[in-house]
Amino acid sequence: MNKLFISNWKMNLTLAEGISFSNEISRTINKSIINGNIEIVICPPFISIPNCFQVLKSVAKIGAQDVSSMHDAKGAYTGEISAKMISDYADYVIIGHSERRINLKETNHDVSLKGINVIKNNMIPILCIGETETQRDSGEYISVLLNQLRESSKGFEKNMIVAYEPIWAIGSGNSCKTAQIIEISKQVKSSYGDETPFIYGGSVNEDNCKEILDQKEIDGVLVGSASLSLDSFSKMISLIDSE
Ligand code: PEP
Repeated sequence: MNKLFISNWKMNLTLAEGISFSNEISRTINKSIINGNIEIVICPPFISIPNCFQVLKSVAKIGAQDVSSMHDAKGAYTGEISAKMISDYADYVIIGHSERRINLKETNHDVSLKGINVIKNNMIPILCIGETETQRDSGEYISVLLNQLRESSKGFEKNMIVAYEPIWAIGSGNSCKTAQIIEISKQVKSSYGDETPFIYGGSVNEDNCKEILDQKEIDGVLVGSASLSLDSFSKMISLIDSE
């Protein structure tokens, strides 16, 4: 499969800023000679998705950062956005990000309902799992991660991308070591099959992106803050480009 480079904008960039940044990254991707072995996925905030889709559609796919668990299509759910609504633009949907699990108290069950709604609308869930620093230090991180994955993926186990995002690595500048990422990939692939895509996120930047993407056990990267800087984004793309 193609390696994935997924950019998560989180709650950043207004609509105007998002369009302007999309134009810049589209020029960057156009200038590169990525020879079809990398899929670039951009995940803007919901409000910017339709416009960013128009700007980026020839160079990248769109992902949503979340989706409603309530219903896959429509209903009396104030403030929610359904998988069906997103599916006009997006091929991927991030679910179970630790920022939502922690800040919005999303449970594994909520995440599983979201994944089912994503699948029903022919998109691919990018299911995030991750351990805290305390869980890693206790040595119990493998069972924590596999339990989170089993509970969150109920109903779509054969149709997901697993994103390993250790909570201690996100936004900290302190990425997981490559060997530690590979250890988790082997655990996930031995439980869910070698064909289950496994990607890594957590302080990926121009210094570590290529080394991570070069590993056969790692099918892609999920990048937050570094992908919001045009300079870092361009550097990461040119490193991928120089394959
Ligand atoms: C993320 O939160 O998905 C992420 C990978 O963030 P960062 O790259 O900023 O650590």
